[in-house]
Amino acid sequence: MIQSSPPSVPNSLSEDIPVSFGPGDRVAVLLQLPVEGAYDYRVPEGLTVSVGDLVEVPLGRRYDIGVVWSAGAGDLAEAKIKDVAHRLDLPRLPRALLSFIDWVANYTIQPRGVVLRMAVRSAKGLKPQAPETHLSRAKPEPTGLKVTAARDKVLSALGDTTFIGAALLAKTAGVSASVVKGLVDAGVIHVTLAAPKPLFSSPNPDQPGLALEPDQKAAAAELSSAVGHGFSVSLLEGVTGSGKTEVYFEPIAAALRVKRQVLVLVPEISLTSQWLDRFRARFGVEPAVWHSDVTGKVRRETWRAVATGEAPVVVGARSALFLPFSDLGLIVVDEEHDGGFKQEEGVIYHARDMAVVRAREGGIPIVLASATPSLESILNAQSGRYQHVRLDERVGGAVMPDVSLINMLRTPPQKGPWGRSWLAPPLVEAVDETLAAGDQALLFLNRRGYAPLTLCSTCGHRLHCPSCTAWLVEHRLVKRLQCHHCGFVAPRPDACPSCSKEDSFVPCGPGIERVAEEATARWPQAKVVAVASDTLESPSAMAALVDAVERQKIDIMVGTQVLAKGHHFPGLTLVGVVDADLGLSSWDLRAGERTHQLLNQVSGRAGRATKNGRVFLQTHDPNHPVLKALVESDSKAFLETEADGRRGLGMPPFGRLVSLILSGPNEDAVRQAGRDLARAVPPAPGIEVLGPAPASMALLRGRHRHRFLIKGPRNRLLQPFVRAWLDSVKVSSSVRIQVDVDPYSFY
Ligand code: ADP
Ligand code: ZN
Repeated sequence: MIQSSPPSVPNSLSEDIPVSFGPGDRVAVLLQLPVEGAYDYRVPEGLTVSVGDLVEVPLGRRYDIGVVWSAGAGDLAEAKIKDVAHRLDLPRLPRALLSFIDWVANYTIQPRGVVLRMAVRSAKGLKPQAPETHLSRAKPEPTGLKVTAARDKVLSALGDTTFIGAALLAKTAGVSASVVKGLVDAGVIHVTLAAPKPLFSSPNPDQPGLALEPDQKAAAAELSSAVGHGFSVSLLEGVTGSGKTEVYFEPIAAALRVKRQVLVLVPEISLTSQWLDRFRARFGVEPAVWHSDVTGKVRRETWRAVATGEAPVVVGARSALFLPFSDLGLIVVDEEHDGGFKQEEGVIYHARDMAVVRAREGGIPIVLASATPSLESILNAQSGRYQHVRLDERVGGAVMPDVSLINMLRTPPQKGPWGRSWLAPPLVEAVDETLAAGDQALLFLNRRGYAPLTLCSTCGHRLHCPSCTAWLVEHRLVKRLQCHHCGFVAPRPDACPSCSKEDSFVPCGPGIERVAEEATARWPQAKVVAVASDTLESPSAMAALVDAVERQKIDIMVGTQVLAKGHHFPGLTLVGVVDADLGLSSWDLRAGERTHQLLNQVSGRAGRATKNGRVFLQTHDPNHPVLKALVESDSKAFLETEADGRRGLGMPPFGRLVSLILSGPNEDAVRQAGRDLARAVPPAPGIEVLGPAPASMALLRGRHRHRFLIKGPRNRLLQPFVRAWLDSVKVSSSVRIQVDVDPYSFY
């Protein structure tokens, strides 16, 4: 895949173009449009621009922001060419970012303008930074002032302090702005203009952090030594609880010491308050944060601070990769194996893979950290392409939890007064013991809601989403049925729409709400909470939960993968996986690998402090290699089997895949587009085209979906083939074609 052999896609940015352009020169400006090329504009009198400058240019009847990309092509008639309107008061985008945009567009088979949009759209609406007005008492004071009651209020509100903005002073004093103005005019209040305080304070790399243990120290030193020495990739592989975060803080400190910026990419879900607390403990301040919930002015100002270098460290979800760092010196990708790094909408890309490319384009080191690295990264480390830095022990003498399987066929759950049950006797007993010892338990089930399926007990009718090939999931807490794919919600019908029988619907199978119901019934003395992404409306709700768990206010957590990652709960000693088979049966290239990673992460929550942890996996298939690997804590054997399997099939990372998803509201049009494409497959030995076939999610958000899968050898890029193929066929405008290079989802 990408990391193993960076393909040499031709780079349209040549190094030998003139750096700046003056009046009368023509420049090619790349706009945030779904087009490949850049448009020519003329530089007007009084302006010079350079490659990378953000400029506003006329476009039809409006203006748009684009980036000076190169010298103009020069084929547009003089009478037709328009002038650049002006240059934005922002630092120019560094060349590494421009070439990165180019590279991503080529690799993901997307128009360059669309990729550019990801990098610069947050600049929209950015105004030049206005200086702030600082008001303070003039010294010496002018004499002969008439002090009215209103003026007296202002002067006592002001005292010896400084107010920022006359409006704030007037509001604080409870008077109108004209009173303040009068005092300024009379020379009693002194006004100075000052640049606004930077949004982010500088982290202090030399503030002492936790004393690292010897193996942490060695790992930290190795990673730090790469900073400032060009492009390199290091895989930091450390068991859960080995203190990886503390270790990668050291290369961050090293980059900060040489005044370079740092990007830490995390899966959206694991950007926790705990992580920010630890950053603050190490560096004294909080970093800039970037994810989808950062909006409006904060988003724009953060974008600017990254561009000007005022934000030394950014921690963010995948889109942070496209921020305009003025001098990026290091990238860290935490939980590098996480599926959340794959962006599945719009420009489909894998942020971990693209981060490696960004590091290469910038000539800087990158650290990939994980307890369960992806097979791709493991193989790259084994072959020596990546440095392999390992931490095999937990910090503070904590030992790895003891993992055992519960055979659900031999010891099935016993029915209780509450009805069906999902917890088998050995797990129930373990929870009893845990509670008796005053410790905490986590019951893990990666299924939101009450029950994954609701059916009519009279006629068997199942409730499904009107717009998707998916069952509706019952959420009892909010008394709704929900589609987990499109967000459709509906109340539970009183009567079956098929046989009209009243009160006939029954839940099938467990979701976390149902397991929480059982736990509450079994252990009435315990405080039980159900935790899923939809029960935590905000990051602060997560912080409150973490706090309650840390203060032992909660005894049993029943949760989905939102609890699996990153958290450190010292009192948690038991993890019960309610359905360890979930995810293993699906046909998916990475089903085994993903389940292995997830269960390893969940298990890793147990016994991270002084008390030893225990993990129970409930399964109907105790001989499954994934579960065996977990019990024997032998991920190596599992990964070898996994690698052999994929090698034999020529699957990634031993081969390359591209998915095409055709979708549209009209199924016939989608099918026709599939047939037209199938007829036009260019001959290419070694490349296999499978499909078209209806996707397993044949209907999603009201769109019918058909798929192609293109498979090729590892030493050959599929992009030129796919581009040529797509360019040769015209499909109905009602059909959308999504190109997914290196697909991770196959539904
Ligand atoms: P990992 O990410 O490898 O699972 P973490 O980085 O979350 O592990 O560390 C686990 C816990 O150990 C955290 O609470 C962290 O603050 C603590 N820790 C890490 N290194 C040290 C150390 N050298 N001394 C004391 N505590 C440490
Ligand atoms: Zn739906």
